[in-house]
Amino acid sequence: MSNDKTVLVGSLQKFSVEDGPGIRTTIFLKGCPLSCRWCHNPEMIDPKQQLIQSPNNCIGCGYCIKTCPNDAITMNPETGIVIDRDKCGVCLSCAKECYAQALRPVAKEMTVDEIMAVAEQDRGFYDNTGGGITLSGGEVLMHTEIAGAIIDKAAAKFIKVCLDTSGFGDPEEFFALAKKDNVTHILYDMKSIDDDVHKEYTGVSNKLIIDNLRMLAADEDTASKLVMRMPLIAGVNDSEEIITKTGELYKELGISRVNLLPYHSLGMSKERNVGGQQEEFQEPSEERLNEIEKYFADECGLTVEIFGRV
Ligand code: SF4
Ligand code: SF4
Repeated sequence: MSNDKTVLVGSLQKFSVEDGPGIRTTIFLKGCPLSCRWCHNPEMIDPKQQLIQSPNNCIGCGYCIKTCPNDAITMNPETGIVIDRDKCGVCLSCAKECYAQALRPVAKEMTVDEIMAVAEQDRGFYDNTGGGITLSGGEVLMHTEIAGAIIDKAAAKFIKVCLDTSGFGDPEEFFALAKKDNVTHILYDMKSIDDDVHKEYTGVSNKLIIDNLRMLAADEDTASKLVMRMPLIAGVNDSEEIITKTGELYKELGISRVNLLPYHSLGMSKERNVGGQQEEFQEPSEERLNEIEKYFADECGLTVEIFGRV
């Protein structure tokens, strides 16, 4: 891979504590083959660059309106600027003119060396806490070449890496990344074991995801790195049938860890800010969450962690 190859990076989030062990820098790579209807980072789904608004930052100066070559921006006296996304060609001229940062590109083109220069700044925190970097997205498996290069550069600096993935990617390329010595954890985000539910709510079948999970579970080395993750959305994937079948599959594959991620609605405003609209879901009740936790822990022998519990 040439050194000047770039990837669109949504953000390099420092001091992450829920994306693997210890303190980590999470690298969000833009582009995902799934389109989960509850996605909490919907601005990371489209592999192409996008313009994102932060309406609260807008000071109403109007510079963006004057600079837009496509007349895609108008001012609504009540609600502030309005972008006609059909006219917008994502030239980003408006973002350059917007000193208030109310308009920005979603992501930045970065080389592997540029990414690593930022990630290495927190090297001391990784060493002291058992942390490292986490490759997330979007979907890291859409960027296996770049991801491989980041992992190899991290290995040369003795930095450990965690993959945060939906498991939807080319099996050989996924396996090659998973086998790398400094990849210590694979956060494997399976949304629903029921394929009809999976298709309806993520846009793709779960077959490849389950096949890839079986592949990693069959190899002693990659199996030891697996931590399952499950977003929990009331009325979508928290039914007794789905939870039981999920637990049975995990038992069959010898999986020992699961993280539960109850739904939150943070994706709705982000989706609005890139010109879309996301429906609202509900998190499971506290009682249902406790039942699911108990089932996975007591019946399936899993170590269960719940993130974002209120
Ligand atoms: S340039 Fe930025 S601050 Fe000024 S009107 Fe446009 S969005 Fe608002
Ligand atoms: S990014 Fe879109 S809205 Fe902004 S100046 Fe370019 S065409 Fe206009």
